[in-house]
Parts: sequence; structure tokens; C-alpha cells
Amino acid sequence: MTVHNVIIIGSGPAGYTAAIYLGRAGLHPVLVTGALAPGGQLVNTTEVENFPGFPDGILGPDLMDAMRAQAERFGTEFIHEDVTSIEVVDGGVASDGTIKRVTLESDDVLDARAVIVATGSSYRKLGVPGEEEYSGRGVSYCATCDGFFFKDKPIVVVGGGDSAFEEALYLTRFGSSVTLIHRRDSFRASAIMVERARANDKLTLLTDTVVTAIHGGNASTGASDALNPVGGITLNAGNAAGISLKLGNALGGVTLPAAAPAAGSVTSIDIRNTVTGETGTLDTAAVFVAIGHSPATAFTGDVVRKDDDGYILVDGASTRTSTPGIFAAGDCVDRTYRQAISAAGMGCRAALDAQAYLTD
Ligand SMILES: Cc1cc2nc3c(=O)[nH]c(=O)nc-3n(C[C@H](O)[C@H](O)[C@H](O)COP(=O)(O)OP(=O)(O)OC[C@H]3O[C@@H](n4cnc5c(N)ncnc54)[C@H](O)[C@@H]3O)c2cc1C
Repeated sequence: MTVHNVIIIGSGPAGYTAAIYLGRAGLHPVLVTGALAPGGQLVNTTEVENFPGFPDGILGPDLMDAMRAQAERFGTEFIHEDVTSIEVVDGGVASDGTIKRVTLESDDVLDARAVIVATGSSYRKLGVPGEEEYSGRGVSYCATCDGFFFKDKPIVVVGGGDSAFEEALYLTRFGSSVTLIHRRDSFRASAIMVERARANDKLTLLTDTVVTAIHGGNASTGASDALNPVGGITLNAGNAAGISLKLGNALGGVTLPAAAPAAGSVTSIDIRNTVTGETGTLDTAAVFVAIGHSPATAFTGDVVRKDDDGYILVDGASTRTSTPGIFAAGDCVDRTYRQAISAAGMGCRAALDAQAYLTD
């Protein structure tokens, strides 16, 4: 059986960048793209404006096609499948006498001297009507990526942890208002973050509240019925008392967009108070969902050490995992930055670490 030099698992910016470096080093990498989302998370977005080298921005799928073509140019072999497991077996040619065995969904098995795991993470979703439909058209999972698009528009953030508060505070730079919606009356976020949020005039905290649907301009979900001509929050029954608004009245901090929203983009959400059961509608141009991420690392089992949330642990600034010859890069490691450029940078480091391991 052929023993490859390196198998890269994942075809996002981290995986493709690793492939470009290893291909140029003459190591003929094999890249397992994943069956469902070749190209990774950016394939699901439209405009990417913060990847260096594209002054006018670039569409996410175009950026990923270009990365793939660059990896192909230097001799990467692609396999369009999912990996289901990795194991380390004796008898290999690596300096530590092991080979890494990668099993694919089809039960095919590949052996390699080194493996780079670059399988990314997925954003946890709300699972409400309209979320999929308006994803990339007002529904976003990344304030750094998309906040800029909602200048002077009302914005909603959903979540109660530090990330949700960080995103909400960051978004106050852009939005005419930011409403943070959380399903409980207390927050997981640190006290200092909550303090900062309360001190920010643009930010409204809406507790004990869940989002039950997202509506938009062209939606088939009855959006026009839900729209409130005066803007702000409309309660279908009773008054705002059941919803704890920081500003004391239901209209505080939330206004209609100055201009009519673009066709097909988010215009409002339905909300429900988890204590009183009251329902209402809140006009907004954007919904940032910040309820956590799940790294796609279950298939690695116990082969590499992970933290409690499943992120792969690496040795300091390197990409070395707890198992020699297995490296990890991108969003499956990085719970902080989660950007295409930071994932690509880590893919580069993984390639150089793997190269050093192979030539040891
Ligand atoms: C809607 C959206 C918009 C975004 N906009 C921006 C932006 O404007 N700018 C920016 O910098 N960042 C943006 N991001 C974040 C950026 O996309 C990620 O940080 C980046 O893609 C992470 O790269 P990665 O290579 O680590 O993983 P990913 O891009 O997540 O790629 C992971 C790859 O692993 C594969 N995979 C997973 N499991 C397996 C398996 N078992 N076997 C084989 N393959 C597997 C998947 O198919 C996928 O190809 C956005 C993200 C989203 C969701």
C-alpha cells in the first residue's frame, strides 16, 4: 500500500494553504476535501472584503476556487470524501516508526507519514424559520466579517456569553442600535462585559427572550404582515412589561432602517418572552447569531488531545498536536480569531511543521 507523505483533511483556507506550501516543497500532498462542503465555510458567503489582495472584495466561492486551483497547480491530489477516523499504527517510515492511517466514509484507507487536520468548525444555529433563507442576507455568524455592511441600521445579536457581548459591543460602531437578545435573565458573559454593555447607549439588553422567526423583504414567511410601520418592537399582546428592556420602554434604542431594506434581506424578527409567553415583532436589518461553535473534530477520537469543547490542542505557537506527525490548523484549533486569513496563516505553519517532521 502506498504511504503518502502528508494527508491534509479539510478544504478551507487552512487546508488549501497547507497544500500549496507542501506541493511547492515537492511533497505531493493528498487533500481530503470533505463531502458536503468542499471549499469550507466561505463557500456559504457572498462578499469577502477583508482577505488581503482583493481591494474590491471577492466572492467567497471565487476565493476558494482560486485557492484550490493554486493547490492543484503544485500537484495536490484531491479526494472528495469525509474522513471518519485516524489511527496511528506501527511500522512506518517516519522517524518515530509510525504511520498514520486515515479511513474514509467509503471505507477506503489511506496511509501517510504525516497528517494535517484542518476541518474547521461550524456555527451553532438558532434553528428558526428564515435563518437559512436569509443567511448571508442579514443573518450572520461573524460580526468582524459582516458588521460593516450594516452601517446606521438596527442590528440584533443573539447570545449571552462573552462572544455575544464582544460582537454586540463591536457592532455598536456600525449599527444605529444594537439589541442583544438572550433567553435567560442572567448572562454567562463576564461581569465586566455586561457592565460595558449596560454603559453603552446604543446597546439594549433584551432578556428572557427567544427569536422564533426571521423575516425579510422577499420572504415567503409573511414578513410584510409582521412589519411594524412605526418601527421598534411590537408586542402582539399586552405591553412591553414582560420583556426587560434596559431603556424602560419598548422602543428604546431600536429604530427602522433609514432607507428601505434591499429586497430579500432581513427586515424583522419574531420574538417570545420565555417567562410570560408574550410574543412580538422587532424590526432589524441584521441578526448576528453568537451562540457558539462546534469544531468538526469528532472523527479524531482519542488520537489527539482536545479541550472540553472539542478544539484540538496544539503545542504553543506551533501546529503540533499531542501526537507526533499529526498537525492541526485553522478554526478546528482556533476559538479566538476564526478568520480566513488567520486560518490560512495557520495552514502555512502546519505545512512547515509537517515538512520539518518529515525531514527530521
Ligand atoms: C457565512 C460566513 C461568512 C464569513 N465571512 C468571512 C469573511 O468575510 N472574512 C473572513 O476572514 N472570514 C469569514 N468567515 C470565517 C471563515 O470562513 C473561517 O474562519 C475560515 O473558513 C476557517 O477556515 P478553515 O480552513 O479552518 O476551515 P473551514 O473553512 O471551516 O473548512 C473546513 C473544511 O473541512 C472539511 N471537513 C470537515 N470535516 C471533515 C471530515 N471529517 N473529513 C474531511 N473534510 C472535513 C469541510 O468540508 C471544509 O472543507 C465567514 C464564515 C461564515 C460561516
